[in-house]
Amino acid sequence: MDDFTSEYSIGYWKQFKDEDVDLPWPTINPELTDEIRMDYLRLLDLAEKDKATAHENYRGWSMCRLCRKANGIGEFEMVIDGVLYTWPDGYRHYIEDHKCDIDYKFYEVLKKKFS
Ligand SMILES: [Zn+2]
Repeated sequence: MDDFTSEYSIGYWKQFKDEDVDLPWPTINPELTDEIRMDYLRLLDLAEKDKATAHENYRGWSMCRLCRKANGIGEFEMVIDGVLYTWPDGYRHYIEDHKCDIDYKFYEVLKKKFS
């Protein structure tokens, strides 16, 4: 993997909505258009299939916080411009199936990378 000087994590949630940890809870954005949502998923797909992206397995399955299904067993890691971006396998499920809000900073980075 390329060298990196900082890290940026996307799509890591609390285990429970009232858990007292410094992580967000997946939230639905009713303003998010399908056009942007589909474009974000397309870019995420390119990032996940990129040969420079690493994939690491966890010790067990992650569970979807919203529908409780088994949702991914690892995470993706990609270095872009000296920043290590990490996101879980199951991240796309929140965007695709639950229409959760996207990460706008990551969206801009992916647009620049894959345009
Ligand atoms: Zn779900």
